[in-house]
Formats: sequence, C-alpha cells, structure tokens
Amino acid sequence: MTQPADADARRAVQPVICYPTETLPVPELALYAQAREGAEKVDEVLVPARDAACFRARAGQFFRISSLDGPQVGDLNLWNANDLNERFYSGKSRALHGTHLTTGERMWCSFPYLRPMATITEDTLGWYGMDQYGGSVHDVIGTRCDPYTGNLLSGSQYHHCCHSNLTRALADELRVSLAEAEPHVHDVLNVFMCTGFTRDTGQYFMKASPVRPGDYLEFFAEIDVLGALSACPGGDCSAEHSSDTAACYPLLVEVFAPKAGSLDGWQSPPVNGYDRSHGR
Ligand SMILES: [Zn+2]
Repeated sequence: MTQPADADARRAVQPVICYPTETLPVPELALYAQAREGAEKVDEVLVPARDAACFRARAGQFFRISSLDGPQVGDLNLWNANDLNERFYSGKSRALHGTHLTTGERMWCSFPYLRPMATITEDTLGWYGMDQYGGSVHDVIGTRCDPYTGNLLSGSQYHHCCHSNLTRALADELRVSLAEAEPHVHDVLNVFMCTGFTRDTGQYFMKASPVRPGDYLEFFAEIDVLGALSACPGGDCSAEHSSDTAACYPLLVEVFAPKAGSLDGWQSPPVNGYDRSHGR
C-alpha cells in the first residue's frame, strides 16, 4: 500500500481527550469515607474457585472484593437489583475513565439510565499505575472469558468460563433457567486482572496479576445493586484462561452497612436527564 505524501504529518496530529471529565459529577469521597468508618459487616459471600456467586448491596452500602489464598482475577457483573435492564456498561465506563478503574472512578450503567452504579472507594493495588508494557489493573477493556470464543478458536466445549459461571450464578439467584439468565450477563469489570494493549499491534494482552492475599477493591453502592462475581478459571491470568490447568483461588465479597444518619445529605443518583425524544 502506498502512503500519501503527508502521512507523517497526519499521524503527528495531537490527540484530544474524547470525554473531558471536568463536568462529570464528583463522588463525595470524604462523606463516603466518614460513613465507612462506622460501617458494620452485614453479609459475606465466598466465591469458589472456577465458579461464580451473587451478592446484593443496598444503595449507600459498601461491598469489598478480597483476594484470599492466592493471586486470583475476578469478573464482575452489576445490575440494578430492582431492574436487570439497568446494568454495568463497560464501554462507556472506559470512555469516561480510561482502560482501567481505580479509586474515585465509577461503574456506569447502560442507556437510558447512564448513572453511576458504584464508586470505587479503596483500591489496595492503586500503587501499580501503568507498567512499562502499558499494563494496568482492574480493566474495562476485556469482556469476560466465554465458551463461544473458545469454541471459535479451538473447537472446545469448556463450561467454567466466567460467562458460564456468571450465567449459572444468576440463574440460581433469580431461580430462572440458564437460557433466561444468559442474556443478562454482560461485559465485566476485570477485578485484579492486569491487562493492556500491545503498543505495536494493539492486541489485548494479560499478564500475571500483582494481586496478593489481603488485597481488595472496595465500592460504594450508589443504587441497590445485584452483583455476580466469577473467580476466573485463568487464576492470576499469567498464562491462559478457559482451562483447568491454572492455579485458582476463591474470592471473598463482604457487604458493609454504614450507621444510620452517617450519609445524611447524600442521595442515590437519579437516572440520566436526557428526555429521550431523539429529535422527534
Ligand atoms: Zn474469566
């Protein structure tokens, strides 16, 4: 292919940020931190290795995902507990915050709601930053490991991918069939996963997660949420996923409720204000 004469000049154009976030509503992190101080644990769910489990947190509560026995990646789905049509929107969260999420950033939900579902309030891997390969932790660029891509690439029938784990967990939680549950499963927040895009080919890569037992990612639930977390069969995702060869560990989800009155003045965010007339 021949290049135009001004190819280098066209490439040299400076990028601009698509969505400057100066006008994005700012989470009240100081208020959340204050409320968290007196909060008490009200629930916990152990997510078995190579499997998934559901949990619920009410608006104003906190939920924490912890690494327990060894480095383990988790695939997180989140819904409005009262309406499954409102669910985590990985792509828009990426457009707003970048490829990986950390403290002060949010899990945004699907159209037409587009409001924060949960805000990250603590990230013990926040020190990791961006490594020399362009890798970072807790991405919103991957999707979730799934049996369809495995079948496409290698003809496999593997059933403990995060997609299938999440489907089974949601079906059990809602007491519906797998066929009814599956369409609700969506692109995840890859908790503890270390990923990026290669600089030369732009390919999605993963590398051994820096997570260690005791590390955690904690969220403030902005609305009533139903969550499903899969302990990925890739374990720390250092080598492969969609297999039973990686060392895998459980993950712990804990839910904390602040003391009554400690969130005075705070309100669960309303749904998006666009009037939905779409020009007609
Ligand atoms: Zn997975």
